[in-house]
Amino acid sequence: MSHPTSEQLQQWRREFHQMPEIGWSEFVTTAKLMSMLREMGYQVLPGKAFLSQDAILGRRQQDVEQGLARAQAYGISPQLIAEMAGLTGCVAQLDTGVAGPTIAMRFDIDCVVVAESQHPQHIPAQLGFASENPGYMHACGHDGHMAIGLGVAQWLMASRSTLKGRFKLIFQPAEEGVRGAKPVAEGGILDDVDYFFSAHLGMGCPSGEIMVNPLEFLCTTKLDFRFYGAPAHAGINPQGGANALAGACHCVTQLLGIPRHGDGMTRINVGTLHAGEGRNVIPAKAELQLEVRGANQAINQYMIAQALNIGIGIAQSYGLRFEHEVMGEAVDLHNDTELIDLVSRVACNEIGLKPREGLFGGSEDATLLVKRVQDLGGKAIYFVLGSTIAAGHHEASFDIDESSLLQGVQVFTGCIRVLSGR
Ligand SMILES: [Zn+2]
Repeated sequence: MSHPTSEQLQQWRREFHQMPEIGWSEFVTTAKLMSMLREMGYQVLPGKAFLSQDAILGRRQQDVEQGLARAQAYGISPQLIAEMAGLTGCVAQLDTGVAGPTIAMRFDIDCVVVAESQHPQHIPAQLGFASENPGYMHACGHDGHMAIGLGVAQWLMASRSTLKGRFKLIFQPAEEGVRGAKPVAEGGILDDVDYFFSAHLGMGCPSGEIMVNPLEFLCTTKLDFRFYGAPAHAGINPQGGANALAGACHCVTQLLGIPRHGDGMTRINVGTLHAGEGRNVIPAKAELQLEVRGANQAINQYMIAQALNIGIGIAQSYGLRFEHEVMGEAVDLHNDTELIDLVSRVACNEIGLKPREGLFGGSEDATLLVKRVQDLGGKAIYFVLGSTIAAGHHEASFDIDESSLLQGVQVFTGCIRVLSGR
């Protein structure tokens, strides 16, 4: 059965590129996916039906409201908006009716907070499909991931009479900030899955190559720290205040001084500090956005524990109230050998991609999905699909090589054919 054409994949990718939406606000994106997948013949679940509400991380009400307003203005039907019930993402399911393995695939759908380049040499600007949502951009290639997901979906539906088992195509919200995978994992949609596949375009791997088993995924936890003090007149009554800004500053320098860990890599970054109201007021509130990373879960836990101790201690010494919130989370990656072999065979022997060894060096929340499947006895893999990119990920002139989309579809469908062919 034939694959979608490269032109079709390009058209899908460009349509998503034009309407980038930040994590948990992807209402236009989700509505489009749901409509297209239903048109193909899938049973499609909205986020509400498969996400664990208790496990949702880093969902800002302001983003949700803006996303809903955008969907309304865009002309998304009120029924579809009501069906999404404030949650984004969707899962398309197909049951061939013939006994066989259950295979799940994950495609992420959110964008990043970057204003897209308007430079005429930037292809999306040149060809008129640049972001129409100012300040936001598909600068990580998730628009391409969705196009690949739709391509796989189309092939699957057309090929179903030659396949056995069941399929779940998960279109996951809020990968950026590693927020969306946890509610997918804890919602249970993966619990009967035998094989799980996920991938990322680019990431230092050029077109025509594939990194089947990227190494050095760091465990990470994204945290917000909040300090609450007491405001006071800085001239008349400074002794009556409790200075949250001073505590927060002290906290930053102590956080950066957490001792390294002898068992492996650690990272810490404090990315933002917001505090205070005016020059002559003792600052009563301060908020830090930080992240820790570690080579494995134990080391990451060590970083979290150290960071929390510092926050608690600082608050006590400055007379502040301390609060923390986990905003995102991902773990390390251990691909299953059976699937490393399978993806290598399909990608390199059948499609002709060149294998590449490499380090990921970052974090990705698909690792939580991989872990969930493996913990319950299934096999799982995350790989990097080569695509020569213009500019780095998350940069204003980032762009993928659209010719890699079809290869992406072929890797997924090639693996499916081996595992689920009748
Ligand atoms: Zn990404």
